[in-house]
Amino acid sequence: MSFPSMADASGRTIGAEELAAVGRVLQSGMLSSVWGTEVRALEREMADRHGVSHAVAASSGTAALHLAVAAVAPDPGDEIITSPISDFGTVAPILAQNAVPVFADVDPYTGNLDPAAVAAAIGPRTRAILAVHLFGAAADLRAVADAAGVPLIEDCAQAWLTRYPDGTLAGTAGAIGCFSLQQWKHITCGDGGLTITDDAVLARRMRLFADKGWPRDEARRHVGLGLNYRMTELAGAVARAQLAKLPGVLADRRRTAGRLAAALADLPGVHLPADVDAHAWWLFPLVLDPPLTNQEVAGKLAAAGIPARAGYLDQPLHCAPALTEAPVYGNSRFPLTVPPADRLPAYGPGAFPVAERLVAQTLLVIDWNERYTDAHVDEIAEAVRAAVTP
Ligand SMILES: *Cc1c(COP(=O)(O)O)cnc(C)c1O
Repeated sequence: MSFPSMADASGRTIGAEELAAVGRVLQSGMLSSVWGTEVRALEREMADRHGVSHAVAASSGTAALHLAVAAVAPDPGDEIITSPISDFGTVAPILAQNAVPVFADVDPYTGNLDPAAVAAAIGPRTRAILAVHLFGAAADLRAVADAAGVPLIEDCAQAWLTRYPDGTLAGTAGAIGCFSLQQWKHITCGDGGLTITDDAVLARRMRLFADKGWPRDEARRHVGLGLNYRMTELAGAVARAQLAKLPGVLADRRRTAGRLAAALADLPGVHLPADVDAHAWWLFPLVLDPPLTNQEVAGKLAAAGIPARAGYLDQPLHCAPALTEAPVYGNSRFPLTVPPADRLPAYGPGAFPVAERLVAQTLLVIDWNERYTDAHVDEIAEAVRAAVTP
């Protein structure tokens, strides 16, 4: 059986609405969001859907994270604590603002930042915590951020409509939530990003940072450093149509994920995410007990035609050559070495053993999609059962 894939129309919800949206923009002759209406409407719809007062669009999820990091205004050498298991788009904006990515280890089953490890990583230069809701499971760093008195940024790129156990929507729990509309996310306009916040000051900083520091409603003067991270009207119009389909996408993913979770619930040596209806099911992660290994099980699943991979990443982010080997700017290791660097960041193998073990040995991810039928799920369940049974 072939599985719907986010790489083509089989696993995307792109249809007549998106076609009409693109046509509407092209016919208007206005493709820029500075003067158009689509991206502003998208921002309103995004904010309303999350019950917050502000949303700011950007050209990618990485750009959205960059807006958030810029808005919390780290000084060069300030530290931002984040997860070693994420997309590099979580880390790049920290470096780009001349701050230092400091990692903390993760929970052995969810792969999300371990609050105790984050608390232990907090130091005098900690400027923010950047939590990643990995695969769509809420990472709850609210108490740690509050205790440290630093803002919490939520990376919700994989966590559209994720909920915390108390029902709070991911992205609304901290100072800023960041979302991605890239091809491989729940909803897409090719590339795009959104931030949400209830804080008018942070929202204004983000809007300025996305548009060359230019307050458009005032004079042509540049009030701060900003890049051009604007979303285009074409992308914005598609994103509006996609955002309207988001609840359906989540309902369908949750229903079939629930079916797989029920089918695998009694399987020894296999750990599943806990709360089916709070999870966003970007991927379906499984964590294996030894002697099972992710490479071996992924190999068997691939042989059975199941779209599954070992580890999610090839290596956790704290082992990325971009941090361990490469200079950052020019030939320098700035900002990693900004005085008074009272400690060098812990990068490289051995620094975060739980994250390293997940990637190398225990974590397996199965591609998930709103177009999966019960038959797809049953085939996956059967293949997983066969792959983990001696
Ligand atoms: C995809 C992703 C990003 C980056 O988003 P882009 O739109 O690809 O720039 C950041 N963080 C996480 C967790 C992601 O999954």
